[in-house]
Amino acid sequence: MIIVVKNEGDKKKLDNLTNWIKNLGLDIHYSKGETSTILGVIGDTSKVDIDLIRSLDIVDSVTRIQEPYKKANRKFHPDDTIIDVGGHKFGGNHFQMIAGPCSVESETQIIEIAKAVKEAGATLLRGGAFKPRTSPYAFQGMRGEGIELLLKAKAETGMPIVTEIMSAAHLDMFRDVDVIQVGARNMQNFELLKELGKTDKPILLKRGFANTIEEWLMSAEYIMSEGNEKVILCERGIRTFEPTTRNTLDLSAIPVLKEKTHLPIVVDPSHASGISRLVPPLSLAAVGAGADGLIIEVHNNPPKALCDGAQSITPSQFSAISQKIGVMLGLVGKRMD
Ligand code: PEP
Ligand code: MN
Repeated sequence: MIIVVKNEGDKKKLDNLTNWIKNLGLDIHYSKGETSTILGVIGDTSKVDIDLIRSLDIVDSVTRIQEPYKKANRKFHPDDTIIDVGGHKFGGNHFQMIAGPCSVESETQIIEIAKAVKEAGATLLRGGAFKPRTSPYAFQGMRGEGIELLLKAKAETGMPIVTEIMSAAHLDMFRDVDVIQVGARNMQNFELLKELGKTDKPILLKRGFANTIEEWLMSAEYIMSEGNEKVILCERGIRTFEPTTRNTLDLSAIPVLKEKTHLPIVVDPSHASGISRLVPPLSLAAVGAGADGLIIEVHNNPPKALCDGAQSITPSQFSAISQKIGVMLGLVGKRMD
């Protein structure tokens, strides 16, 4: 961290600042110029409140050199993290396809879709039991019963299940869930993240629709700092000025994250676009950009879906994507296993 201090500032205030920094266990390298003094702060500055320093009247500017996240940072963990979910690996040269409906609607619906997506190449089953809906009058999901139905679908097909949690108070119901999803709306629900950090479940952490990559990695850090390092990031589109699509898929986030973190990254082209016909090209683009997996909404009858029908594809459309991805994975040096 570099702090530029005005030379005309009060010497006592400068002493207060330097003592405060030293008391945090950090060293300071001084460089006095004609109009300002540069303090190079050496050590782990992740706990330093940069805004507090910036607000001091003797301070001209503050620049962070080191990222505020540590456990998620590739600098401290150069190798890709590989997360194993029931024998299916995320990260490194492994690739996974998660597919299923937005919401679990009935036993026949989830089991029929589970079998169809497995047949079409999916390795994990998704399905929302607790649904974060904009309207309180919209279908809220089958809740605990939905999780029971997902477990039945898992027993029938052998596919691990991925489902969203909305409150730490529900954690008991997620005992047998393989991957716990944190939705975009809860990416900065820090109390929830801390509770998930105390579990040993893989967490699929979706990007908030108005969050920067750094904020997203800080949310991963919340989970990891409590002891759970099994975090899979999920880019699901961000809100921009463009109204044609539900969100804008931030494809550049994938190679950027590959530099910044060792955690695996999956892409959700369904919520990113909101339009089923855009799901195939965006899926292929995500693979090309280096994603470690996809999570796609698939429904056996999209027009009748209780949630997100417009962005849901059919099992046969999913099968077509899956075949093309099989070809592309060879080009990017990944494999689905
Ligand atoms: C979902 O996966 O169904 C969902 C609600 O996603 P997001 O949190 O990305 O909107
Ligand atoms: Mn959905």
